[in-house]
Amino acid sequence: MLRQAASAAAEVLVGGRGAGMTHAWLFTGPPGSGRSAAAKAFAAALLCPDQGCGHCDSCHQVEVGSHPDLESVRPQGLSYSVKQTRELILRAAGRATQGGWRIVLFEDADRATEQAANALLKAIEEPPPRTVWLLCSPAADDMIITIRSRCRVVTLRTPSTQAVTHVLTTRDNVPQQIAESAARAAQGRISRARRLALDESVRRRREAVLSLPRTLTGVGECINAAERLVKTADEDAAAATSELNETETSELRALYGEGSSGKGLNKGLIRGGAGALKELENAQKSRATRIKRESLDSALLDLMAFYRDVLAVQFGAQVELANEDRRPDLEVLARTGTAEDTLRRVDAILLCRERLAANVNPQIAVEAMTLSLRNPRG
Ligand SMILES: [Zn+2]
Repeated sequence: MLRQAASAAAEVLVGGRGAGMTHAWLFTGPPGSGRSAAAKAFAAALLCPDQGCGHCDSCHQVEVGSHPDLESVRPQGLSYSVKQTRELILRAAGRATQGGWRIVLFEDADRATEQAANALLKAIEEPPPRTVWLLCSPAADDMIITIRSRCRVVTLRTPSTQAVTHVLTTRDNVPQQIAESAARAAQGRISRARRLALDESVRRRREAVLSLPRTLTGVGECINAAERLVKTADEDAAAATSELNETETSELRALYGEGSSGKGLNKGLIRGGAGALKELENAQKSRATRIKRESLDSALLDLMAFYRDVLAVQFGAQVELANEDRRPDLEVLARTGTAEDTLRRVDAILLCRERLAANVNPQIAVEAMTLSLRNPRG
């Protein structure tokens, strides 16, 4: 679906293979709307001799990330530095190996620091003739206006439950019923729906989060719930990073000439090694914080959808519920509180998300939220 759209776009916009091509594109859309998938399909269409056929070597290389003329960037940490950006610009300036386009696909470009964004701006202001920048960010406003105004903006909408179900059943061979419930639960976030449909542990995690609202009857329960939410996010970050951190650290140590005698000691490293090691440690910390935040945010989004469903039940609204499978819980909470209570709870979740994004200590932010969700009669 995306591939067809992108290849059609490429055909129209590239025209005579070069004439009138825009050298900077900005793909925007809410998390999970598939902006990086769309950008990737567009890159495939530009690099493929047959405008993105999906079957040739070139398309396959784009898919697995090994195409020599496609530079893919996905910031791992909370931000992308000016140093990283300058290195990227140098790599992007290389000549295309196959005489076509040289493409840089920059996911989460909104994570570029202000200095990094300025370096990026210079690069897209005067791009080498056959270099194309594909930037992705949640909203066009996330990019500084000078970059935005030089990009052609492609805006993606949140796909419908039906469309997400269709992708899961046809692309991932998920049985219809599981696909439907995953698509409903993910509220348009395709990658989240896919994980819910395919990974039992992700489903169990969601169940655990959604069972919380009914348990929040006293202060003690609220504090316990907050602790559990934060601990789960910590575990996610540890699981995703510990092995990777070790590999990176030992590779770097080897690079700086650490012999068997100097193991574990920075003085065993040649000049510059300690600094590089410190830099790596900071990058690893930033990556772990990002994963922890994303894991917590995913739980908060599930909770928010839950209370929105409670509100829908309170108003008797004829809308699709994200948590149809938890209708009995929704009805209890709808009965034991007013719509005003429910709105106050949704606000508390929104506030918690804002605080987390602003670096507030997670335990404090989440505890304040669970206390606001308390329902003594739940
Ligand atoms: Zn192809």
